Amino acid sequence: MIKLEDLHKSYKIGNSSLHVLKGINLNIKEGELIAIMGSSGSGKSTLLNIIGMLDLLDNGTYRLDNVEIKNLNETKAAKYRNKFLGFVFQSFNLINYKNAVENVSLPLYYQGIGRQERQQKAMKYLQKFGLGDWSKHLPSELSGGQKQRVAIARAMVTEPKVLLADEPTGALDSKTSHEVMNLIQEINNSGKTILVVTHEEDIAKMCKRIVKLKDGIIVEDKKIKQNLIKSNV
Ligand code: ADP
Ligand code: MG
Repeated sequence: MIKLEDLHKSYKIGNSSLHVLKGINLNIKEGELIAIMGSSGSGKSTLLNIIGMLDLLDNGTYRLDNVEIKNLNETKAAKYRNKFLGFVFQSFNLINYKNAVENVSLPLYYQGIGRQERQQKAMKYLQKFGLGDWSKHLPSELSGGQKQRVAIARAMVTEPKVLLADEPTGALDSKTSHEVMNLIQEINNSGKTILVVTHEEDIAKMCKRIVKLKDGIIVEDKKIKQNLIKSNV
């Protein structure tokens, strides 16, 4: 599904350059649930953003679903992003003046899908994720866990091939974190490939494979016995 070979990335800061990713090799198969770990500044978000086509690599190759991702103009990149990738962020990134169902249907609007179908699909995902009764509520009326579930619904509504989550539980208490990871496990159980950036060991253990980054290189890559969370919904 995802194949990275000798991936390098630097950022220019004034006259100097910061070498952030120093030769990443990573092979991800369909249906994997991977935790990307590492201390702050180790390059986790940079890696996720390159995989998510929010940032460009300098050297190396990136293949997504057998397509080499390079030299794509912004229009084409946006199209691929919309079709293949769903994003979830620590800070939810919901639009404050739009209610839950409007937030979830927004990616479908950008795909040119009509109002009725947008509404239907968005409601389907909200219901699936236990938020059917909250569809008309604004983000400010939702708890942190509910906001993150709305954000996950928004990421899933376009049926992407891969779900990318950058510290999705970083702003949540541990009980709510487990609820969000429970949902991520359920989505993965239905076959979706998922990458979760985290620096919390217990969150990583809920995944099936742990990739550890240190100073821009992979220092550990192991399959683990997944810690399954029981659903209490
Ligand atoms: P992590 O997510 O593991 O905390 P990041 O990938 O966000 O790490 O950042 C890795 C390093 O790259 C950090 O030193 C950070 O300051 C730097 N960095 C990240 N993004 C940029 C950018 N757009 N411009 C310059 N430096 C950046
Ligand atoms: Mg980060």
